[in-house]
Amino acid sequence: MAAKTLRNYVGGAFLPPGNTFDKISPVDGSLVAQVAEADRNTVDQAVAAARKAVDGAWGNTSVPERVALLRRIADRVEARFDDLLAAEVADTGKPLALARELDVARAVANFRAFADVTAARGLDSFLTELPDGRRALNYALRKPLGVVGIIVPWNLPLLLLTWKLAPALAGGNAVVIKPSEETPSSATLLAEICAEAGVPDGVVNVVHGFGPDSAGEWLTTHPDLDGVTFTGESATGAAIMRAVAPHVRPVSFELGGKNAAIVFADADLSRTVDGLARSIFTNTGQVCLCTERVYLQRPVFDEVVAGLADRARALRPGRPDDPSTTTGPLISLAHREKVLSYYRLAESEGATTVTGGGVPSLAGSLDRGAWIEPTLWTGLPHDARAAREEVFGPVAALIPFDTEEEATRLANDTRYGLAAAVWTRDLERGHRVAGRMRVGMSWVNTWFLRDLRSPFGGVGLSGIGREGGEHSLHFYTEPTNVCVAL
Ligand code: NAD
Repeated sequence: MAAKTLRNYVGGAFLPPGNTFDKISPVDGSLVAQVAEADRNTVDQAVAAARKAVDGAWGNTSVPERVALLRRIADRVEARFDDLLAAEVADTGKPLALARELDVARAVANFRAFADVTAARGLDSFLTELPDGRRALNYALRKPLGVVGIIVPWNLPLLLLTWKLAPALAGGNAVVIKPSEETPSSATLLAEICAEAGVPDGVVNVVHGFGPDSAGEWLTTHPDLDGVTFTGESATGAAIMRAVAPHVRPVSFELGGKNAAIVFADADLSRTVDGLARSIFTNTGQVCLCTERVYLQRPVFDEVVAGLADRARALRPGRPDDPSTTTGPLISLAHREKVLSYYRLAESEGATTVTGGGVPSLAGSLDRGAWIEPTLWTGLPHDARAAREEVFGPVAALIPFDTEEEATRLANDTRYGLAAAVWTRDLERGHRVAGRMRVGMSWVNTWFLRDLRSPFGGVGLSGIGREGGEHSLHFYTEPTNVCVAL
């Protein structure tokens, strides 16, 4: 059977494909799809289509109209749940159950959450009374930012795309989406779903391609963009910042992390080992929030290391639709090479590999996939590169500590600052240490438990700005303050 061709979606139509690149399955190296690579002219057309939409009727839609549209999109995403699930699993190779519970379910939730937040939003207004007796009413109208470039990664493709698209539409913007070259399928399908839900032509455009010298660069350097929202690696964020600098545009960045967990000796150890195992191995370690450094108070060090090693060894690689599969591959052979280079580096820097450290031997065509062993290190020095740089794989360094002060200092000694988790039965200490973490998100006795209205983002190399509820809407709207003398 011939592989399908994924095309660019511009101005409400799928364009003829032109040049294509291959999307390869990380499960077994088979061809998933041929993908049309947008050239500069296609990106120009997409930005022009978005500009026309935002300057036209779409830019003047009312909040209730947009809220109703978001709810219709959520309903259509739900109706086409299985198609999106198949697309996401084909591109990423992640277990079907994970994609069902996490990725596609969150896409529905994202549209509903931003419909609710937008519907409940008031205006900022002030009654001004000056000492000389003058009075005025101030209120800030919220207008769309305009044409927004959305650039997303491959690890949670649909979840992260809808996390940006829903608030962008809620704010009345038109968008040009550049999905990752590794995960083009669900974004293409989402464009179709948006049209089915009644999104006007030109409001949502999708261009496929790579970063430098391809669609990512053509989009971020485009002079007619009003803002860029990006999730991906910190180094890519820096490159995008340079690209938009000449045009002085706002950016919203969700970037990498080297997230820490701190486990105190009084923690409920069985709950902690469960939570840590999830936080290290979910999505084969390819979640920006994943824990890569675990600080363990010395009295429980051996017990937690043994518990985590059992969990790592129990993970079952396999085809996404096999119900016994509990872990998927990495996204590509190239990414596996990067992760393996850290496995080798850690050992050369003094780590002991407790479990894993290589590539599993799998039967049949799976041996052509990007499979990797879940891995745990002990003995890695604090200054080792493997303990400081983001690996983005199923791996963590396990490090002993004695005092709360020491654990707090070690956890915070990083240029990243995305997320942290504290495990303890002493809630006073839990609040205290969680609050001292220099991160955007800090959990106590849990991980990746999210309220979509709460702020999400990072400090330092982990990002600029916050997403979630009102925080997202700030980025996607521009206030105009109107001051009326009374
Ligand atoms: P990446 O930075 O390599 O690519 C992300 C996207 O940017 C892709 O669409 C890519 O084509 C595009 N791109 C690459 N170079 C570009 C350039 N010069 N100009 C414009 N676009 C460019 O990231 P990735 O490997 O796809 O994803 C993994 C990274 O994403 C990890 O670092 C992870 O921590 C991070 N991430 C962060 C969050 C968060 O919320 N903080 C969430 C998920 C992933």
